[in-house]
Amino acid sequence: MLYSSQKDPLNRTILKRLNPLFPEMSDMETWDVIIIGAGSAGLSAALYTVRSGLGTLVLDEKIAGGTITNAPTIVNYPGFLEISGAELAQKIADHAQKFGAVIHEIETVTALNLHGEIKTVTTPTATYNAKAIIIATGSHYKELGVKGEQEFRGRGVSYCGVCDGPFFRGKHVLVVGGGNSASITTLYLSNLVAQVTLIHRRETLRAEQSLVDDITNKTNIKILWNTEIQEIKGDKQVRTVTLKNNKTKQTQELKTDAVFVQIGEAPNSQLATASGVEIDEHGYIKTNLHQQTNLPGVFTAGDITNHPIKQVGTAVGQGITAALEAYAYIRQPYHKKHPIETITPISKTEKTSKP
Ligand SMILES: Cc1cc2nc3c(=O)[nH]c(=O)nc-3n(C[C@H](O)[C@H](O)[C@H](O)COP(=O)(O)OP(=O)(O)OC[C@H]3O[C@@H](n4cnc5c(N)ncnc54)[C@H](O)[C@@H]3O)c2cc1C
Repeated sequence: MLYSSQKDPLNRTILKRLNPLFPEMSDMETWDVIIIGAGSAGLSAALYTVRSGLGTLVLDEKIAGGTITNAPTIVNYPGFLEISGAELAQKIADHAQKFGAVIHEIETVTALNLHGEIKTVTTPTATYNAKAIIIATGSHYKELGVKGEQEFRGRGVSYCGVCDGPFFRGKHVLVVGGGNSASITTLYLSNLVAQVTLIHRRETLRAEQSLVDDITNKTNIKILWNTEIQEIKGDKQVRTVTLKNNKTKQTQELKTDAVFVQIGEAPNSQLATASGVEIDEHGYIKTNLHQQTNLPGVFTAGDITNHPIKQVGTAVGQGITAALEAYAYIRQPYHKKHPIETITPISKTEKTSKP
């Protein structure tokens, strides 16, 4: 999407790297709100902060759009019967930008100082000030942690079916996992490759029934139940995996061209934790109905939070709430003078749900 260059024809990032020649570029920029993460949550928040009149900078270490760009098809986002994740992400980003959000892509936030009225956000090329911060850094794919996984990463080991599936047209690939993400990836790949084998360590899938039905009806999908990967082997690329049945304890070697790992996500909360933001025992940022964190002026939204549901719709809703609460925090309008509340932790027994 390359919003940075569109909004910033002088290319501020390059000028900052040439700092001695352009000393004025080293001045700290001050924004009303800085949003960390340009996924569904961060971009929705940006739409609402700019429409409330707050100067808003959105920073993302990648291209704007976030995780949803990896979803082949979205059929459960209200208002769209069917839309690709990439197109939906593009629409949300365009919407926020049209109303004035400034989006800097490929700019990783490396440090935060969240104490005091003015917060500081540091990236490799700049330091910014803001009155309020919204942390919407989402999550990343969990790894299997088996031998060969790191060695063959990018050479047959992948965490994104939409990104890498087309490289394996007509081949045999494995998908590891048993939830919605694994099921969606399996179905997507089954339309591209000759054969998909789904490796699941339990004996039933934990996916929506409609996905399970679709998988059952596909002739080129095989499921190996109670099975775990022990090792990924190959030469220049993946060739075989060693599988172990966790009931019978038998092992087998299976030929494959790729391994797609879809065993869940873990929160991108290291940055927040290092800055004093409270997380729960699973690493998700603790929040309440107002999307507040334990620090005044610091809000959070989307998959990074301890909200039990992880969907685009919930990320969008939380982003909107965070934005309007940030507005209330900064402007203190007459109708919204509630004090900063103490976080109400969500029950430990509630589970998160991925599509
Ligand atoms: C395969 C798959 C299919 C899915 N299908 C569906 C579906 O059909 N329907 C549905 O509703 N949901 C679906 N989801 C879930 C949905 O994608 C997420 O719930 C949603 O995208 C979360 O949005 P977010 O903004 O919270 O996080 P993200 O979209 O993950 O955005 C977080 C952003 O923060 C950025 N970031 C992280 N750290 C930093 C940093 N230090 N500095 C700067 N930027 C940073 C990341 O680059 C990223 O762009 C699916 C997910 C997957 C993986």
